Amino acid sequence: MAAGVKRAVARVNLAAVQRNCARLRNALTGGAELCAVVKADGYGHGAAPCAEAALAGGATWLAVAAASEAAHLRAVGIAAPLLVMGALTPAEVDVAAAAHADVVTWDERFVPILAGRRLRVHVKLDTGMGRLGTRDVDEARRAVAAIDEAEGLELGGVMTHFATADEVGDAFLGDQLAAFHPFAVEAKARHPSIVAHAANSAATLREPRSHFDLVRCGVAVYGLDPFQRDAGEQGLEPALTLRSYVAAVKPAAPGQSAGYGRRWTAGEPTQLATIPIGYGDGVRRGLTNNADVLIRGGRYPLAGTVSMDNITVDLGPDTDVRPYDEAILIGDGVPAEEWARRLDTINYEVTCGLTARVEREYHRDD
Ligand SMILES: *Cc1c(COP(=O)(O)O)cnc(C)c1O
Repeated sequence: MAAGVKRAVARVNLAAVQRNCARLRNALTGGAELCAVVKADGYGHGAAPCAEAALAGGATWLAVAAASEAAHLRAVGIAAPLLVMGALTPAEVDVAAAAHADVVTWDERFVPILAGRRLRVHVKLDTGMGRLGTRDVDEARRAVAAIDEAEGLELGGVMTHFATADEVGDAFLGDQLAAFHPFAVEAKARHPSIVAHAANSAATLREPRSHFDLVRCGVAVYGLDPFQRDAGEQGLEPALTLRSYVAAVKPAAPGQSAGYGRRWTAGEPTQLATIPIGYGDGVRRGLTNNADVLIRGGRYPLAGTVSMDNITVDLGPDTDVRPYDEAILIGDGVPAEEWARRLDTINYEVTCGLTARVEREYHRDD
């Protein structure tokens, strides 16, 4: 037992990533293709291994937010079509171009910054997200025209992004679709080889009319539920488990406390386990007295303040838990969605928040 345990490890099942992609691809309509979004180091899962697994599962495109993320994927030998979705500084345009990645623009005034390099450019219409893109269809048309005329540039696609796709029953997604659809049809009539794309994971699962030529799925690729409920309901499998181990077991007498600020005190005699993982690893301090850890198949509550490098859990008075027992913080019935609810956030932030100090370990179903 002692030989195999690790201080803090995120074990990622690449077979699950592959199956999640196959499941998403099977849901696509009208010949749409799957673009797997692997930004933010694959939502904390590891960009390169997840990108490979996604491609094996039927994704034909990859997307990232930053040019440096595209450069990283190329450096490890990934050759698939790649889209950098985020805003780019002039220096980042060079990095994206060197990585043979497609880029996004929405303003004809940005086109001269792109021109002169061989680049495929996607024009983004802001149909209601209110972030990147232009709200003005005429401006989007002018950006397309400027790309057509610029040296080296080629229109690669037209796109938009939904603000409320994860809110079941919302009507705004329909409004955004209605705003994007005519622009997509018009652009494709003039540029038949481009791809029109709009859907994130939630829209892909919820609204087939959002599929167009390509869907950009991130969170679902990793088996996280875009609706923050239960990934299983969507036919998705969580790929990541977060594990540590029991470093110490010791008694706590009534009145004795654990952790900074004495925010937990034993009422009855009990046993405490110390687990060497903390907010320095991404176990957020908001989980103080507010999470469960699995050890030997039992669920035990956090007792006291999450520190940077340690947490303590209450094992109860009669425990068979021993030092070097494995402790599971996420996985096996404690989904990332549970942490998200407890922290008043979303599963995306839970896995993105796992820090570099957590070793990533890859396996396939074992
Ligand atoms: C992150 C991102 C996505 C993926 O969203 P998910 O909800 O994770 O599927 C798609 N499109 C854009 C523009 C994004 O920034």
